[in-house]
Amino acid sequence: MPIQGKEFQLRRAEIGQGTVIARALPHREKRMIGAWCFLDHAGPVVFQEGQGLDIGPHPHIGLQTFTWMIEGTLMHSDSLGSKQLIQPKQVNLMTAGYGISHTEVTPAQETQLHTAQLWIALPDAQRNMPAKFQHYAELPVIQHDQIECQILVGEFLGQSSPVEVYSPLLAVDLSTTQHSQTRLQLKPEFEYAVLLLSGAAQVNGSTLTTENMMVFPTGSSEIEVALAADSRLLLIGGEPFESPILLWWNYVGRTEEEIKIAHQHWLAHDERFGEVADYSGERLQAPAVPAHMRASK
Ligand code: MN
Repeated sequence: MPIQGKEFQLRRAEIGQGTVIARALPHREKRMIGAWCFLDHAGPVVFQEGQGLDIGPHPHIGLQTFTWMIEGTLMHSDSLGSKQLIQPKQVNLMTAGYGISHTEVTPAQETQLHTAQLWIALPDAQRNMPAKFQHYAELPVIQHDQIECQILVGEFLGQSSPVEVYSPLLAVDLSTTQHSQTRLQLKPEFEYAVLLLSGAAQVNGSTLTTENMMVFPTGSSEIEVALAADSRLLLIGGEPFESPILLWWNYVGRTEEEIKIAHQHWLAHDERFGEVADYSGERLQAPAVPAHMRASK
């Protein structure tokens, strides 16, 4: 018998100027899947020209932002001077390390968006590394039981993604145009989550919707996946992360003190986070700093 997954409800949140997304991670009862510490599913949504995403300059530390584009396009700009349009079936990977700032803006003529954005916590050995940005125009694809498997991160069915990560991790986009059923081998040392991106699916007999995700603990060796026609799933996994993390706003750290210092640097326009050129709008507003982070230790 395959291991029964645990079902978690996603919550709704707003990003940019009113774009509603479904947030899978962090979840109150499940903060991370391996080093994956944040997972937003945005869209599919269709909008008028000029009504897309406009996420102003904001900082990151201690993580990699990972964007998987399914439909539509988005322009990434950052304080290193990177400027990269991401198109469907492409990945943008921004390694924040010690610090970076960026914007994400829908191009003027664009009228649709369907994307998954995830964050990867950097291990202690890499979390203060210099920032960098990488764009992957093409990912490996395998046909498996009539399912198209795009290997986004890690190794799957003998193929490896070129996406550069620093922990044992997996991300696969599984899509099909016809009803399909398959068994997928899992690594018992990984924990996993499965999220429906479109259509309808069952995993180990449990129904997935766009409002839930199924989580599988370490020790699972396979899952049974049934996909309805025109459906798409995201499978992520990884070895349980090396330590607890502290996640506040756009920062991942280990102590309140270092997050407080990073935020002071951001507010002071410190060169740690640089500036994004060619963006005329406002910086993103941080939520109020929690009282326990305000007091100096
Ligand atoms: Mn960001």
